[in-house]
Amino acid sequence: MKKFRPLAQFDNSPPPTPSPLEASGSEEPLARRGEGKGGGRRRPLKIDRLLKEIKKGELVQLTQDLIRIPSVRRQEQGEQKVALYLSPLLEGIGLDVVVEVVEPGSPNVIAVLHGESEGPCLMFECHTDVVTEGDPSEWKYGPFDGRLAGNRIYGRGACDTKGNLAAAVMAIQAINQSGIHFKGKILLGILVDEEGMMTGVKHFIRQGWANGVNAAIICEPVDNHLCITQKGALRAELITNGKMSHGAMPLAGLNPIPPMVSILEKMRQLEEEEIERLGKDDFLGYPSITPTVLQAPVKGEPQLNVIPYQCRALLDIRTVPGQSHEALKKQLEDIVKEEERSVNASLDSGPLKEIRETLEKGLSKGISFQSKLNVFEDRPWTKTSRDERIVQAVSKAIRSITGEEPTYGGVLGATDGTFLSAWAGIPIVTIGAGKWMIPHQKDEWVSVEDLELTAKIYAASALEFLNL
Ligand SMILES: [Zn+2]
Repeated sequence: MKKFRPLAQFDNSPPPTPSPLEASGSEEPLARRGEGKGGGRRRPLKIDRLLKEIKKGELVQLTQDLIRIPSVRRQEQGEQKVALYLSPLLEGIGLDVVVEVVEPGSPNVIAVLHGESEGPCLMFECHTDVVTEGDPSEWKYGPFDGRLAGNRIYGRGACDTKGNLAAAVMAIQAINQSGIHFKGKILLGILVDEEGMMTGVKHFIRQGWANGVNAAIICEPVDNHLCITQKGALRAELITNGKMSHGAMPLAGLNPIPPMVSILEKMRQLEEEEIERLGKDDFLGYPSITPTVLQAPVKGEPQLNVIPYQCRALLDIRTVPGQSHEALKKQLEDIVKEEERSVNASLDSGPLKEIRETLEKGLSKGISFQSKLNVFEDRPWTKTSRDERIVQAVSKAIRSITGEEPTYGGVLGATDGTFLSAWAGIPIVTIGAGKWMIPHQKDEWVSVEDLELTAKIYAASALEFLNL
């Protein structure tokens, strides 16, 4: 895959004091007392003017509307329907909109709001797809009803991530309607297939869109923690090949299962060594090497008295800062090659050959063992320095809205931000409404209050970042 040149390092110098949202422009009166929990903090009129433009009713309605357009990938053209719904809406609030087909029925929507003068580009990244709803009868309300009950909106995508997408749209609309001047531009990337192979963000980068982006806010459900790191992932398939035979005559063939077990055990040991070596990451915990699928035979039906020809495992490997994917891949590869070498050595001249030849002369001929590891997806871990301008801008926005310090955190899964960071060198932070355990479960929900806070954080962060 094509690697993109990282952007030139952004200016990390600390923001001037007071920050633009606090600064009184010539027409702006000085700050008054804020209403945040911090009590007594100064919250300027400019930010109040901005926050007033976040309309709770519209935010709830847009979230509901988006949930009501089912966009699980299997649902034909669901992502396209979301895109077609959003494009005119975004144009209506003053953005330039480009729709780019990634795959049939799955287009990215890229919308840009231009400021008054030249300056940096801040991206908000959201995705149009949602994961499967599972068995709809298990849900309290229909998964695509977008039901508002009490202070919660229910439905697939409520927090992952249609609610946060709606919050980003409302934030950008508020900036535009507030009439507050800003430099540079805001790019809203509404991308497809985040829950799958992330073809949307890969296409976005390949098309060159990322080249002009200076920082990105990844809109995902992380309980509005300011997440500055995320785990990496390797996805791999491991195959062992032997020779099919009768269960009563195992020496007439070669069972590919025991070498698979041996390889997986060595990988478990490697996992232990990595945990020992790296210790616990503050936000991400420990790295892991997890076999999630184990199959033998790979093709045809399994039968108790038949030794299969082939065995297959799928590995879900998660990494933390401090691990080199290249080094880890080599270690895994070495384990697989070593097993292949030792089984074949035994077949050629070791105990296995002897046993077979004593049973029947020539029985050992034509029996060999192969094992192969195929890493088919590589998603690096990310870590953004707290000194990065985007981290400073978001934390400042949180402070001025809530009167409290941000809670820093990390994302355990990979997101589209993984590729924006790893392939395009863009500093990223992840923030959005939705409790940690809620995504991908039945009865997915988001609190209206949290969503409103998210929209405010997005809007204030954008101005903090762009006007520095
Ligand atoms: Zn998501």
